Amino acid sequence: MRLSQFFLPILKENPREAEIVSHRLMLRAGMIRQQGQGSFSWLPLGKLVLDKVCRIIREEQNRAGALEILMPTIQSADLWRESGRYDDYGKEMLRIKDRQDRDMLYGPTNEEVVTEIVRAYVKSYKDLPLNLYHIQWKFRDEVRPRFGVMRSREFLMKDAYSFDLDFEGAKAAYNRMFVSYLRTFTRMGLQAIPMRADTGPIGGDLSHEFIILADTGESQVYCDREYLSLQVPGEKTDFGNDGEIADIVKTWTMPYAATDEMHDEAAWDKLGEADRVSARGIEVGHIFHFGDKYSKPMGAKVTGPDGKDHFVSGGSYGIGPSRLVAAIIEASHDDNGIIWPEAVTPFDIGLINMKAGDAECDRVCGELYAAFTGAGKDVLYDDTDQRPGGKFATADLIGLPWQVVVGPRGVAAGEIEIKNRRTGERETLPVAEARKRFGATA
Ligand code: ATP
Ligand code: MG
Repeated sequence: MRLSQFFLPILKENPREAEIVSHRLMLRAGMIRQQGQGSFSWLPLGKLVLDKVCRIIREEQNRAGALEILMPTIQSADLWRESGRYDDYGKEMLRIKDRQDRDMLYGPTNEEVVTEIVRAYVKSYKDLPLNLYHIQWKFRDEVRPRFGVMRSREFLMKDAYSFDLDFEGAKAAYNRMFVSYLRTFTRMGLQAIPMRADTGPIGGDLSHEFIILADTGESQVYCDREYLSLQVPGEKTDFGNDGEIADIVKTWTMPYAATDEMHDEAAWDKLGEADRVSARGIEVGHIFHFGDKYSKPMGAKVTGPDGKDHFVSGGSYGIGPSRLVAAIIEASHDDNGIIWPEAVTPFDIGLINMKAGDAECDRVCGELYAAFTGAGKDVLYDDTDQRPGGKFATADLIGLPWQVVVGPRGVAAGEIEIKNRRTGERETLPVAEARKRFGATA
């Protein structure tokens, strides 16, 4: 992509409304545009990152056996009357009437809709286990939307729903999502810690929030330092092996970890001073077992191996991709801007032409652009006539992992410079060497 043909509305000034660094940097880097209270458009740079985040989520959901669907945003109030939640949900739910004066709502979550699907088609235990997920916009009329896409009113959510014959099965489904989440966040360059969360009237211990440690987080959290060095399960993890998956969950739930609401002073005091991590955290995912909470009132049942009817046992599993984009920035930036982890970066390489219009610089840039893109790299080629200082500032701000700088003096010597955004390290290389560095054959 040539920068001259891209849409990157960079802001020079710090936007005054932005209280936290991710919000400030997303506005400054032209990733999002606020459209109303808690409502944002995703501009090209932001959309590229959001898509990469969603792709990782999809790959890991699929790996764990979940199936992607897509349910509507606008739902019928009648379904929510069946579950009993229409009156309970409160002011966060945006209620709408259609032209026939029917009560509708903009979905804040999808348990009712997905239970309706299962109720309609799933009749036997042989059709289970089943896990259906989608990545869809949600609306919640939050009391205090703030921090940009971190807490907005309209936001993207990946929500998965598992259905099983009994608690045993539901627990195995829960464990698969637990492990899938560990992999998902690690792949984005984040260290997420699963923390016991409130199960309310459902009871039991099957509810965890996945928390990223960051000073600007909204929750106060407590955990054992051991979490910071636990090994995240690899690609070969066998999601078909319930025992293997349960063992991973055991390892990851053994050390102490809790959010403020679940904090247990007695357990905390038992930890040595040096092992205690008390910090602020951002919730990026939440998994929850709810049993027959929806299947019972809505009549979603299957015939079991015993020939009897059983209400299916369910759980729900949320991740906030739009919040994650902000959380990644909170975890990875410096004074000059964003530092994207490779897996979610909007482009792999920023190719900077220091003197666009200079025949040699243009030629070398054109060659490198073709070589890098040919090697499968996404390249943002700054071919604009801005001054070098401005180009460097933009490149640092938008945070691509590598900058490849082509200037007239270097080109005369057959050399270019590469800079690693994270370490700041610079290296001068012959042009052919630079091509090889990024996977192109010389
Ligand atoms: P919170 O405690 O932050 O309000 P929640 O408990 O209401 O979140 P869930 O219902 O568990 O959230 O939703 C699943 C995921 O969706 C959350 O872990 C979070 O990543 C994301 N999410 C929830 N609310 C918002 C929001 N207002 N803006 C952006 N993302 C959100
Ligand atoms: Mg939650």
